[in-house]
Amino acid sequence: WEAERSYASKNPKSAQAYGQATDHLPGGSTRSSIFVHPFPLFIEKGEGGELTDVDGHVYMDFVSDFTSGIYGKTHPLIRSAIISALDNGLQLGAHSTSESHLASLLCARFPSIDLIRFANSGTEANILAITAALRHTGKRKVVVFEDGYHGSVLSHFELSGSNWGGTHDMKVPFDYLVCPYNDIAGSDRVIQAHSDEIGAILVEPMLGAGGCIPGDIDFLQYLRTKATDIGAALIFDEVQTARLSTGGRQKTLDIVPDMTTLGKFFGGGFAFGAFGGNRSIMQMFDARSSGAISHGGTFNNSPLTMAAGAVAVEKILTEEALADLNQLGDWMRDSLNEAFESKSLPFKMTGLGSINQVHCTLSKDSRTTGLSLLFHKLLGRGYWIAQRGLISLSFAMTRKDVEGFVNAVIGCAEEVGKLA
Ligand code: PLP
Repeated sequence: WEAERSYASKNPKSAQAYGQATDHLPGGSTRSSIFVHPFPLFIEKGEGGELTDVDGHVYMDFVSDFTSGIYGKTHPLIRSAIISALDNGLQLGAHSTSESHLASLLCARFPSIDLIRFANSGTEANILAITAALRHTGKRKVVVFEDGYHGSVLSHFELSGSNWGGTHDMKVPFDYLVCPYNDIAGSDRVIQAHSDEIGAILVEPMLGAGGCIPGDIDFLQYLRTKATDIGAALIFDEVQTARLSTGGRQKTLDIVPDMTTLGKFFGGGFAFGAFGGNRSIMQMFDARSSGAISHGGTFNNSPLTMAAGAVAVEKILTEEALADLNQLGDWMRDSLNEAFESKSLPFKMTGLGSINQVHCTLSKDSRTTGLSLLFHKLLGRGYWIAQRGLISLSFAMTRKDVEGFVNAVIGCAEEVGKLA
């Protein structure tokens, strides 16, 4: 309570802006995931790795817009690509070489993608990938996993009682079978019982919103084998994990799914989604054949998105740069876990590379409070993480920034530990 009181008194303009926003927006925003108790900070400006709120506080941004903000808030190469594209027109409403260029770059990166199509969000990409897989296999059931998140209308939190995500009566109505993540025997029981009806298995190689829990290699390999055995399409949702190497987690693990969905950063900071896969599935979208799946979207090939995405892939998301950022993330997670353990602090880090989550290990009833306290204390030291614990690095951070952050997290965790 004291943390919330001090937060309220330090942020009067955000409190006022929130009050006004709720006059027209239920919850004050169009993104439930960015809500913060007791009210969210209103951010006025971002530059490099920093955010400035309407009350003038500056924070180093360790949310990075839930992984999409890998470039930081400003990037000179992306800025100039956008300006050049803008000079040639906002929206052309036609085929363009910038669209086929970005497609060629992404196909070259992902072992599973022979052909690709663009959309405006990861959610859309997943809906389209499932649709294609079901049409291709002629079956109707879709295997998904507890705590999986594939977009705002495609989340599967409710079964495990996660404290965010709520219930989803509005889920897009595919015929789901929900299996336990990282549990081969438990999943096999469900999949085996319905093997004739399953057309798609959709899985994140690491649960993202579900807590940054890496998929075990054995589990993901089992899904690969099983999907082939039962004639289903295996879809890897790499909307987040694509940044773990130049070819996503599938490249690191050497597992080739039938389809892959992408999103977030590949639009260079603009709204983006993509789905791709092997030629026989993706050819169903070929407008030259009769009975092709019709797939539209006014902004699917926005020239600004295509240009920003291409420069990002070619010049920023290089093998070396991604390896460095992911190593920094591994170092951060290991350093924090060592400190939490040696000092018996009630926190634990999970994740891979630059995508991480801090969890509170107090009793179930106290976990949300423990995390919220850590969040408020870090804000007090000028660091912004997601209130639910997500910590994601961006290219705008230096090793020194991350070292400063690690020290701040340890200091704040000690303060929370004393209160627990
Ligand atoms: N899939 C995963 C793994 C995600 O993390 C997200 C978003 O966080 C999505 C899909 C949905 O992407 P979007 O928010 O662009 O619809």
